[in-house]
Amino acid sequence: MSEDRQQRPSDIGSADAPPIEDKPYKIIFEANKCFGAGRCAEAADNWEMDIETGLAKPRSFFIGEDELDANIKAATLCPAKKGDGIIHIVDRRTDQEIAPDPHGDGTLSVDW
Ligand code: SF4
Repeated sequence: MSEDRQQRPSDIGSADAPPIEDKPYKIIFEANKCFGAGRCAEAADNWEMDIETGLAKPRSFFIGEDELDANIKAATLCPAKKGDGIIHIVDRRTDQEIAPDPHGDGTLSVDW
């Protein structure tokens, strides 16, 4: 498959996206793999546990610089997928995954 036919991480779920200048980072969440460990909610205000499902959900999928560190912490701490994590933070300007980045090369580590 040619490079330009692949979906860009920054295009996923961007229908109502705020301007990149305001919220340069986007969260891609593999919700179906969450098992409710709750580490994300301890690490970042952006993450809360849904009382009905017992699973995590982000308050916002688009975040600014001020929220970045806490969300990186949540992404890094998430133990799902054998520790690889299911909270993905993508820099919308470069399409690089900046956390948890288990491959260490900025590629999106989502298993759809
Ligand atoms: S840390 Fe990961 S597995 Fe645990 S609740 Fe948050 S998203 Fe789900």
